[in-house]
Amino acid sequence: MEEMRYFGYICPQCGKPVMAGRSAFVLSAAAVRIECPACGKAEMDIETDGQRFRLSVPCGLCGKTHTAECTADALLRGRGIGLACPETKQICCYVGEEDQVRRSMEELAIRAEKEKTEQPEAFTDNVIMYEVLSELKDIAARGGISCTCGSREYGIHVRRDAVDLTCRRCGGRLRLPAATDEDLDRLCCQMTLTIKGR
Ligand SMILES: [Zn+2]
Ligand SMILES: [Zn+2]
Ligand SMILES: [Zn+2]
Repeated sequence: MEEMRYFGYICPQCGKPVMAGRSAFVLSAAAVRIECPACGKAEMDIETDGQRFRLSVPCGLCGKTHTAECTADALLRGRGIGLACPETKQICCYVGEEDQVRRSMEELAIRAEKEKTEQPEAFTDNVIMYEVLSELKDIAARGGISCTCGSREYGIHVRRDAVDLTCRRCGGRLRLPAATDEDLDRLCCQMTLTIKGR
């Protein structure tokens, strides 16, 4: 029976895992395209010059498309390969034997789901959050952020609708709402921000 190779990635458009097999013969003979069967909006391209394979992979972790090259040997034979997303440094695509790719894809689906909930889209208002963060950067740049305990060391924690500044010395916290125009206006007229120390 002809040897099959399997390809797996997460569709960045609809979030579904995509997995498909192609025979080694077909892969060596012509360019191959693996579309997301659920939405049809993402496609992985695989082409070869006989020596090497060029892959173009829609990345379900960061949403971009990554390209990679590997030898024909690595792609067509053996245990298979995983391609890493340069943005998240995690594997976003698997090529190899059916069982292995299926197992890896199950883990990848969970990881992609987690990645998505941590994406900036989770903000109440992306534009306001962006403006609040850049305003915060300006205030920080002129040394305007301090704590009543005297410390100027702080951590920033971005939430869905607010940004928390936490003093690294005493743990005091200042919450800056970041969901509405008023939140932004309030922050813009402040020259300094003071964290209430403990
Ligand atoms: Zn899709
Ligand atoms: Zn990526
Ligand atoms: Zn403090």
